[in-house]
Amino acid sequence: MLQQLSQRVYVVGGGSNKGLIAGPKGLIAVDTGLDDSHARRLLKAAEELGRPLTAVLTTHAHADHFGGHAWLARRTGCRIYAPAGEDAVLRHPVLEPFSLYGGALPPAGLRGKFLLAPPCPVHEVVQPGPLEVEGIRIEAVPLPGHSLGQMGYRVDEVFFVGDALFPSEALQKYYAPYCVDLDETLRSLEHLAGSRAATYVPGHGPLFCDSESLAAAVAAHRQRLEELRSRVLACLSAPLTADQVLAAVLAEAGEHLPDAAGFVLARAPILACLTSLHRAGLVEERVEENAWRWARKMTPAG
Ligand SMILES: [Zn+2]
Repeated sequence: MLQQLSQRVYVVGGGSNKGLIAGPKGLIAVDTGLDDSHARRLLKAAEELGRPLTAVLTTHAHADHFGGHAWLARRTGCRIYAPAGEDAVLRHPVLEPFSLYGGALPPAGLRGKFLLAPPCPVHEVVQPGPLEVEGIRIEAVPLPGHSLGQMGYRVDEVFFVGDALFPSEALQKYYAPYCVDLDETLRSLEHLAGSRAATYVPGHGPLFCDSESLAAAVAAHRQRLEELRSRVLACLSAPLTADQVLAAVLAEAGEHLPDAAGFVLARAPILACLTSLHRAGLVEERVEENAWRWARKMTPAG
């Protein structure tokens, strides 16, 4: 459960990867997992290390990464750090299902613990660059795309990358890997490919401890996103709504969405593809007969 990665950096697995960094004043957690049980596991690991847990760094404001923050803050009085922009969701977690639902109050199906975490305080808003936490120097590295303000954290030779990089199991399970900005997600993957660290800790799945396995994972994630964008473009020979694009792309991939939460999590990357294609001047959008449709942009003849 508790794995040591360097002299002072540890990872606690189980559902999601959570970090522990040992400093002179105490331990700093990186993310807390989905709920109280994840936070309890983290605190137990801290007790094994014989130090108080005094701070929590947040990679991004998704419920499965900060769902344990509130419990841990109440229990230990730790200080909570969150990237600029993401901090709003920690304080007002309904913003996560609210935005997935298109900016209206979501129904019960989008209010489960995977999309709605308990609110918690934010004591420090993290900006990119060097960061001094509890006497430890940490580098905050922007890795946006999966969320607007996702931040990676580097300490020693360990790089916590949040959900900037998906394990192959996730790519097998979900044809449309979650992202809110496709172009930024690709740039963040490019950043990871060009970075050098001894160990990469993604939010889920196995760690990457050599450059070959990291390069393969980056390539697979990038290839999937590019394929998704190509398939979105390919189905727009006739005008379609975003939901029709989603249905067409997932039918082709043979994926069946289980419920409303699965639906909105698959729709976001489809919308991100449409925005990316629109930015590139390849598609146009129009509201006609009260339906918002997208179509491939016809190049002038000749
Ligand atoms: Zn996430």
